[in-house]
Amino acid sequence: MNVLILGGTTEASALARVLSTRLDISVTTSFAGRTADPRAVAGETRVGGFGGAEGLADHLRADRVDVVIDATHPFAARMRWNAFEACEATGVPLVRVERPPWDRVEGDRWTSVPDLATAADAVAGYQRVFLTTGRTELSPFARCDGTWFLVRSIEPPDPMPLPTATVILGRGPFSVAEERALLIEHRIEIVVTKDSGGGAAGAKLEAARELEIPVVVVDRPPNPPGPLVRSVDDALAWLAPFVDRPPAGSVSGAQSG
Ligand code: NAP
Repeated sequence: MNVLILGGTTEASALARVLSTRLDISVTTSFAGRTADPRAVAGETRVGGFGGAEGLADHLRADRVDVVIDATHPFAARMRWNAFEACEATGVPLVRVERPPWDRVEGDRWTSVPDLATAADAVAGYQRVFLTTGRTELSPFARCDGTWFLVRSIEPPDPMPLPTATVILGRGPFSVAEERALLIEHRIEIVVTKDSGGGAAGAKLEAARELEIPVVVVDRPPNPPGPLVRSVDDALAWLAPFVDRPPAGSVSGAQSG
């Protein structure tokens, strides 16, 4: 049984860890290759794009992939559609694993926006903004005159499109205490985040709530049709009928009428 995980998330790594313990499953995690030093994952890995949906379909055939788990990030907008089209074309079963969005709780001062351009409109007039949207998604904010940005990313933005910004490098998870200290130290007036969900990135929301700092939350891009699960456990449950199926013709697989 060959399982291809489209990775780049903690859910993908956790699935690879569980599945690679099974001798009857060969698991490969695919990375886009955006991060020079990705975290190590169990099982096989491959790096780089497939060349669109067609390229992925070719890969599924060539590598005799039996099941695809799309565990790409909630904001990886393109890959999920490539996976959907490639699996439709090849008949390979596909499930998408996407952690739940964050829940707004009492005390949150959130503004939800559909995209980064609208997020840039929402921070107009603020002078000190904490941007946690990722190093490749800064350019919509370049038109915010008179705003200083604190940018946190795993690797340095290159190029840096913002005229007045300070970059801090870091890879979560961060604690609430760390996030609180950061917001206070830099006198942050507003935070911008994508609705990534999950605990690893949620501490900044808790810290902002405590400090009564407003947060601009960018909504997720849409998902293609098909099975969508919200956790690693649910993905494993979805996978069970495929991986636990007895080989064709075996005694235990025979129907007894
Ligand atoms: P995207 O818009 O969905 O994908 C753009 C292109 O990158 C795809 O068409 C595909 O190229 C390639 N690609 C994406 N994920 C891939 C994977 N797992 N394996 C092989 N190729 C992949 O994705 P993105 O927003 O650029 O993000 C890239 C990767 O970073 C994703 O794997 C995602 O899980 C991870 N990530 C993204 C974010 C985010 O906020 N966007 C945050 C954390 C991690 P081809 O068409 O050539 O196949």
